[in-house]
Order: sequence, then structure tokens, then C-alpha cells
Amino acid sequence: MSNNNIGYILSCPNCKSRLLIEKDFCKCSQCGALYKHESGIFFFHDSGEYNTGADKSDNLIFQIKSLIKKSPKLFYFLNHTLGIHAGKSVKDFLRNIPKGALIINLGSGSNIIRDDVINLDSYPYPGVKIVSDVHKLPFKDASVDVVVAESLLEHVKNPEAVVKEIYRVLKPGGTIYITTPFIIGFHSSPDDYYRWTYSGLRILFKDFKEIELGSAVGPTVAFTYILREWLAVFFSFNSAYIYQLVTLFLMFILAPLNLLDFILIKYKISKNIAHIFYFVGKK
Ligand SMILES: [Zn+2]
Repeated sequence: MSNNNIGYILSCPNCKSRLLIEKDFCKCSQCGALYKHESGIFFFHDSGEYNTGADKSDNLIFQIKSLIKKSPKLFYFLNHTLGIHAGKSVKDFLRNIPKGALIINLGSGSNIIRDDVINLDSYPYPGVKIVSDVHKLPFKDASVDVVVAESLLEHVKNPEAVVKEIYRVLKPGGTIYITTPFIIGFHSSPDDYYRWTYSGLRILFKDFKEIELGSAVGPTVAFTYILREWLAVFFSFNSAYIYQLVTLFLMFILAPLNLLDFILIKYKISKNIAHIFYFVGKK
């Protein structure tokens, strides 16, 4: 199925009923709720609800990140040179998923993993096809083949509810690739609430059959992250602005060290201080 007919799997996020899709809006056949449908993009919530992160201690970094996210190629390049993804990536995972499968990327930002992946985010970044709250997915039960979500669940208010939604919309036998950070500082995107250990993820995904659980990003990225944050706090003289400038500077200075993760990620014990875990599961 191509991206052009995602209308086929959409349902009302409020009452889960069938949607009548028109050129510039869609309407729930049951509760009558109206949703905007503009330039092929479905809006299930008002992105004005999106928190700008203005009151956060990392506001400057958040703003820069939001700016970079508007340019997908630059975001991908920086993400992969400043932090080494030595473990299984979402691209590795998707290599085993045939074209034609219905794949949703939750909390995608502007990241285009593959041209057949449907991007869903709470904000209409370039490339986002569905703007929605991830707690109430606008898809029919058992309608999706694959769900991927990278570093999303720590940013949602109720991760258990989101995991339940993912389970609901997946077809039986459908698969997930989900990453969550472990050793990392506070990072608003637009806010930051939770962390899971290796064992905690097993509880979070208890309804899924575990296929693989491992480190996506290793202990050196975790170490350089904490080191640069500590140095930035030390040299900040209690100014959130200086703290963020030092953080950005050190991000580039310490990046070469992260190459060590290509070796250390192979040491099983390094999962005790991994930066990001991935979970591959099946419904
Ligand atoms: Zn409805």
C-alpha cells in the first residue's frame, strides 16, 4: 500500500469509528468530529498545543534542535556524526521489512527513514503525513504491519498507554522497533519525563514477544554526554545560557571519542551504562 491511500487505515482517534475523507477535511461517521486534511496531511490535533520548551533550562538547545529538524538531511548528518550509532539501527531493522508493508514512524520529526515509511508526529515537521497525539492513534485496530519509534516514549506523559495503542493498531504478527535512552541528561523535546533500564523495557513491552533487546547507542556516547554536561554545569557560573553554549561546543570536541563504541558495544556488560536501548518485538 502506498502513502497515498493511508486513508484506508485511518479511524477517528476519539471514538475509533470510520472516517469520511474529503479533499480538505475528514469527518467521523459516528461522533461527527471534524479533522483538517490539507495538502495530503491529516491533522488530528492542533499543533498549536505543541509546547515550545520556552520555560526549560535547555531552551536554546531545544530551539536549535527544532530549527535543524526542519532540514532532514542536516539533522540526520549531525545525529550520526555527533553520536555514533554502533548498535542495531532502525535502518538495519527495516532491511528485513519488505516494501509494501505498512510502516508507521511515531514521533518521526522530519526524519525520513525510507520512502515508504509514514511519518506521524505531534508537530507538522516536513515529511510528516499525520499530525496526532500518540496517546490516541488515528488507526483502526490491527491495521499496521510495523511501528517504529525512536526516542519517543521518554517524552510522552503516559508511555504505558502509548505502548497499548501501538499494540492495538498492530496486525497480529506485526513488529516494532523502539528505542529509549538510558544514561542521558534531561533533554526537552518538547519535555522529558522517563527513563528505562534494560529490565524495565521488558516490563514496558510485556505484551509483545521479545525478538531482540540491546544497545543501539553505546556507553561512550553516554559517557561523553554526561562529561560534557558536567563540564558545562561547572563552567556555566550558574547561567543557563553559558551552560548551553559550552554543551554545544563540547558536543563537537568530544565526538571523536564516541568511535570507541564500535568496540565497547560488543561487551555485554556495557549495557549497564548504555546511552540508548532498542527493543524489537512481535504482536
Ligand atoms: Zn468519532
